[in-house]
Amino acid sequence: MRLTTSNKLGDMVAAPPVIGVLALQGDVQEHLISLAKCDVTARPVRRVEELDELDGIVIPGGESTTMSKLLVNFELLEPLRAKIKAGFPAYGSCAGMILLAETVLDGREDQEQLGGLDVTVRRNAFGRQIDSFETDLDLAGETVHAVFIRAPWVEAVSGEVEVLATVPVTAEAGDAAGRIVAVRQGNVLATAFHPELTGDERVHRLFVDMVRGSTEEK
Ligand code: GLN
Repeated sequence: MRLTTSNKLGDMVAAPPVIGVLALQGDVQEHLISLAKCDVTARPVRRVEELDELDGIVIPGGESTTMSKLLVNFELLEPLRAKIKAGFPAYGSCAGMILLAETVLDGREDQEQLGGLDVTVRRNAFGRQIDSFETDLDLAGETVHAVFIRAPWVEAVSGEVEVLATVPVTAEAGDAAGRIVAVRQGNVLATAFHPELTGDERVHRLFVDMVRGSTEEK
């Protein structure tokens, strides 16, 4: 839903997109700050009525099992799942990536998925060796410093999924070497790492471009 507004000269210009950050648990504030640098209106969201005011949503890093429970309690799981399935733009970092995956390995049995990404992720994949891990990655042609905190990685992708980044193959990377850590499918973007924690808003800009592209299609 994009409204128009007029600038000082009275020309009609597109209003900035409105992007929500799911604010049930996790690093909500950090995502709001990153989005605010990207010329959008960013706001925390926790009620179902608020979803219809948005052009896209960010599912933050945090704890996917807790967020899953809260999504059910706040009656957001089904509406958000349906919206994402219908093409609503969504970006998930870390726990957000887990929630957007269709299949999770090493999850809790009662953990619910929002879905939208035809991928299989392994929860706490890096955490089996080390809790956090940092590396520079090539993300669609740009070098990004990636911070992983008890992160998942992607173990399998369907043909519809574009792989945007993998962990470079180095001795320090151990089992993580070559693992897929950023993906896109249609209007859904996910990173196993946390760009919201490094003050580098390029991943958020990529998502904002996806949101702008999707609103222009309407
Ligand atoms: N391990 C967490 C989970 O399963 C994700 C960690 C994070 O978001 N930093 O949800």
